[in-house]
Amino acid sequence: MLDQFGRSIEYLRISVTDRCNFRCVYCMPESGMAWLPRQQILTYEEITEVVRQLAPLGLRRLRITGGEPTVRPDLPTLIRELRAVPGIEDIALSTNGVKLPQMAQALRDAGLDRVNMSSDSLRPDRIAEIARRNLSFDPIVAATAASDAGLDPIKINVVVIRGANDDEVEDFAALTVVHPWHVRFIELMPVGDLAGTEFERVVPSEEVLARIAARFGTLDPVDGPARGNGPARYLRIAGALGTIGVITPLSHTYCDTCNRVRLTADGRLRTCLYGDHEVNLREPLRAGEPLEPYFARALAEKPREHELLKLRVGGLKALSEVGG
Ligand code: SAM
Ligand code: SF4
Repeated sequence: MLDQFGRSIEYLRISVTDRCNFRCVYCMPESGMAWLPRQQILTYEEITEVVRQLAPLGLRRLRITGGEPTVRPDLPTLIRELRAVPGIEDIALSTNGVKLPQMAQALRDAGLDRVNMSSDSLRPDRIAEIARRNLSFDPIVAATAASDAGLDPIKINVVVIRGANDDEVEDFAALTVVHPWHVRFIELMPVGDLAGTEFERVVPSEEVLARIAARFGTLDPVDGPARGNGPARYLRIAGALGTIGVITPLSHTYCDTCNRVRLTADGRLRTCLYGDHEVNLREPLRAGEPLEPYFARALAEKPREHELLKLRVGGLKALSEVGG
């Protein structure tokens, strides 16, 4: 399945809910989110049907995301149904990790391969501050539960925010010395609720890497985890079990190698995170129509590159709405 620029689309990110048990400052407003009505949200059967129809066209890898996917009841049921679709080789989950200690094993047993856990601090008070919810959550316990359940690789995503958690970069990097985890530092994107200071609070990846190198010595470029589809660049502290990655949505675009499309919780197929390129699949799906012509239309419209750098602020919805 190729788009108009010859990029093959084999990776689908599926948002299963727009809801979340956190309200991260860079992602959702504290209050006033208008949640999707239940009847507009695709059922697990409908999501599986989209995947079933895309798989013969080349779809191979899935990521379940949100909102926070683990707040949707009975998530292992969806994983089990998706796992049974012929052609699907890899299923990953993006989560804030809060429910991993209780759910990791059930998710693994249902057929989940791996997990990306977001964690912006290792200090309980700060986690509560950034997430604006105090759920007594310990990211190390959560990542260990995922690892013990057999999920592999374990990636930990840290959004670096100047003045909020940038002094923890070294602590996160130190995790990779003793755990075979992949800690990835993400440049803050200019959306969310940081009172208009988003651009001042971006910490460029070069600065993050310089801080880590100042503490731990030279970082060697490495290939990164074998299973992954993302835009990260990886390095390793000498002798470390895990790796350090950086994801730079602002300073570098990775559109040339973009192989992903997104399915929103209410059934829109979005071909680019930024802008409004999307096709509604829910209505044809509920009318029992074949989806292939809709996929073709969506791909024909996938833009060459995103417009974030030109737009600066605006144009991008909260990531929780479009599935990160
Ligand atoms: N709730 C799950 C989680 O937090 O991993 C999945 C959805 S979340 C929208 C997906 C990813 O988007 C998370 O890693 C989060 O940190 C990231 N994200 C959200 N808003 C962002 C922003 N303004 N800048 C950079 N990353 C952001
Ligand atoms: Fe929820 Fe993830 Fe957004 Fe945080 S980043 S508010 S955990 S969806």
